[in-house]
Amino acid sequence: MAKKNQNPHLNPETFRDALASVGDDGKRNWVYPKKVKGFYFRYRTYLSWVLLAVLFAGPFIRIDGRPYMLFNIFERKFIIFGAVFWPQDTILLIFLLLILFVFVILFTVVFGRVWCGWACPQTLFMEMVFRKIEYLIEGDANQQRTLNEAPWTGEKIWKKGLKTTVFAFISLLIGHLVMAYLIGVDEVREIVTRPPSENIAGFTGVLAFSGIFMFVFAWFREQACIVVCPYGRLQGVLLDDNSINVIYDYIRGEPRGPIRKNVVEEPAKGDCVDCGLCVQVCPTGIDIRNGTQMECVNCTACIDACDEVMVKVERPTGLIRYASENSVKGGVQKLFTGRVRGFSLVLVVLLGAFVALIATRDELAGTVTRFPGMTYQEREAGRVSNLYNITLINKTFEQQRVEIDVLADGMDVEIVGAKEWVLAPQTKFEGRFFLVRNQADVKVPQEKVTLQLLNHGEEFDEIETNFMAPVGALKQ
Ligand code: SF4
Ligand code: SF4
Repeated sequence: MAKKNQNPHLNPETFRDALASVGDDGKRNWVYPKKVKGFYFRYRTYLSWVLLAVLFAGPFIRIDGRPYMLFNIFERKFIIFGAVFWPQDTILLIFLLLILFVFVILFTVVFGRVWCGWACPQTLFMEMVFRKIEYLIEGDANQQRTLNEAPWTGEKIWKKGLKTTVFAFISLLIGHLVMAYLIGVDEVREIVTRPPSENIAGFTGVLAFSGIFMFVFAWFREQACIVVCPYGRLQGVLLDDNSINVIYDYIRGEPRGPIRKNVVEEPAKGDCVDCGLCVQVCPTGIDIRNGTQMECVNCTACIDACDEVMVKVERPTGLIRYASENSVKGGVQKLFTGRVRGFSLVLVVLLGAFVALIATRDELAGTVTRFPGMTYQEREAGRVSNLYNITLINKTFEQQRVEIDVLADGMDVEIVGAKEWVLAPQTKFEGRFFLVRNQADVKVPQEKVTLQLLNHGEEFDEIETNFMAPVGALKQ
């Protein structure tokens, strides 16, 4: 992270030269975080139950028969908290993403990576699901290390086999969950209940997502936060000395050193007894005493571990705690800095614009394009026509009837196969129609015409297009 370590007792930058999870030989240093317990872990566990329940329930929640959340990138249809967004609502989605982006920035500037530690699905699944299963099957950090280094005995095969099976099962569950968010529960049910050959794409999607999750949670693990996650990369520019983070109080803790009975230390030691527990429990393998680091996902494991030590050595807890650099240095916690006020203002403006756009968005929308590869068609009785495609979107929750009219003298509209279009609620419809006129009335080879889209006789959209036909008599 760009911010300098402010602990005067340390060589400020050497720890930044290497990743804790990569050895000197460039190979992976497998991190074996020790089991943790304590105040924060307990509340993170409770919250994880709630969040996982919400996450798994998400695709099943329906309001008036439609999903509450759907991110169908394939059909470019999104339902967010019950509100439907179509490709025509791209501007709304951009606003929504901008709002989310600014909110995340604002939240991070004030509260650091609290999202990573408490609510990010990667941390939730890794620390609260997969890690716990691993502890259950293979034991705590030391037992896991011993098992990994041991030869392939029956016990090792059994434990590794069981863990892989359970991990694969949960990865499959998450794979199905992601697909349910993308294409809807009904489609996933179809994929599950029918032979794979009937829905190769869907089946492949489920397997691909499940494979990715198995890879991430069984092997890639903390690398996802350290190397891949773009939010993690942003920390260096978002955090400042007023941001609240998991932080080591070096003023109180240094100079560190073990407690020696009946020895008066000269100079006096700080509160850190250098037990190393905060490092042993860290899922990204770092030493928080080096200062705020990009690898720290603010999981609070080191807070719990250190508090336990402080209780044992009868010193005040909170040597590692949620605090800002400035509060450690000067004891002052300042939340509403100029940056926070600036981001808040931008957020309010974006929210206002979003509400205004939602309030004024069209419930019915249409787009017209000329039929590709065709100019005009000659008809009987000296008539000439052009063929068009029309895409209609009904964003309402009722069935709608749409008619089309053309604002050009002597020109008629012929809807292919119907008199009007009937649109089911919340659907996209694609149709075709002709514009027809007497060839003798054609004055220019390319005439601009205005189409009127009507719903119950009332215009809801006007669309400009071109009518093409040769000027003069057609060859017979
Ligand atoms: S330094 Fe502490 S809060 Fe940060 S990731 Fe490691 S254990 Fe979690
Ligand atoms: S757990 Fe606390 S006392 Fe132990 S090394 Fe870490 S900061 Fe020091």
